[in-house]
Amino acid sequence: MYKANKILLSTTHSVDGCRVLDYKGVITANVVMGVNILKEFVASFSDFFGGTSGKYSQEMDKAYEKAINILEKKATSVGANSILGIHIDYDEISGGGKSMLMVSIVGTAAIIEQSTKQSNNISTESIDIDSLNRLLYIEQYRSLSANPDWLPNNQDWEIILNNQLVELIPHLLPCYIKSRKTPITYSDDGDRIRLSRNKFISLLSSIEYEDAIDYVYGDWTEDPRIHSIMVDTIIQCHLFNAVAILQKLPILDKHSSIQLLTAEKKLYTESDVEPLQEIVGFFNHLPDTGHYEKAKTGLFSKEEEVMVCEKGHKTPVTNGNFCCYADTQKCGLNIKGINEAEVTIINEFSVRVQILEKFFQKNTNSSTKN
Ligand SMILES: [Zn+2]
Repeated sequence: MYKANKILLSTTHSVDGCRVLDYKGVITANVVMGVNILKEFVASFSDFFGGTSGKYSQEMDKAYEKAINILEKKATSVGANSILGIHIDYDEISGGGKSMLMVSIVGTAAIIEQSTKQSNNISTESIDIDSLNRLLYIEQYRSLSANPDWLPNNQDWEIILNNQLVELIPHLLPCYIKSRKTPITYSDDGDRIRLSRNKFISLLSSIEYEDAIDYVYGDWTEDPRIHSIMVDTIIQCHLFNAVAILQKLPILDKHSSIQLLTAEKKLYTESDVEPLQEIVGFFNHLPDTGHYEKAKTGLFSKEEEVMVCEKGHKTPVTNGNFCCYADTQKCGLNIKGINEAEVTIINEFSVRVQILEKFFQKNTNSSTKN
């Protein structure tokens, strides 16, 4: 891992041979692991007892790393160069039928006397043959991808994935989008299309969350087909990002943006809460696309209050909130033009935000008490 400012981390309150010059106070970091991780963990319980906790412990490591990262940023922001007496806690929180796992780290930010010893610098004066080949591949595929008709074949994808040519992601994104727009046929081209759909997802899933965010939330143009491809990709790769989504909401059609709420990310931090609340606010204030009026719904019936959906269908309000709810022939939209499944997605999303809100609230309170 590369770090701009090297912060010294220690579980003890003193470091051998280093004098503490100043204490900068207690700092904390809390990181929550997404709900899907726990589900996956339960599903692979047998693996766990078999001795390979694999993916789960990987996620724990990531949560820990992220929390340490936050702590280091906080230490830097108060001018400290070390964090002493570090204490780590793992905790499970639940509510609304969901549970999440969280990592909390507490430590004391301090300024200690800097050691004058130089750390070993990695040489930049030589390059091994593998690294050189890698750079050659990148150049080769960069120029190939400049041709809008080009799609990588199986051998190309093997080279790209085996050498982790992640620098090519922005150049392969147009290929991926093209492959998602083109129907698969039983031909060589069909194979390349299928490969470009699947292998690009593998490549994108192999990079860090922060880097992937930059790629998937880039320029989406005005094309609603690209919107739905990107929404789908975000869901598939667990690349939910509240801040980026807030920026996309005004240009997205409401059905795509509701789908986006089903996307997850693997770790949530305190800084997610505010943009998440803003997203909930956005969906709470969706404008009405239908209206209410008094009308006769049958030849001999009396005039009654009806909802007229955005497609002009009339449903008596006594029949529920969705357009001809009991009649499968009708569209099922409510006064805001969204269907029952979509309302459920929005509600579940709000519950998740409430859990996170409560969770981080609780932790802010308990850490200020210290
Ligand atoms: Zn309708």
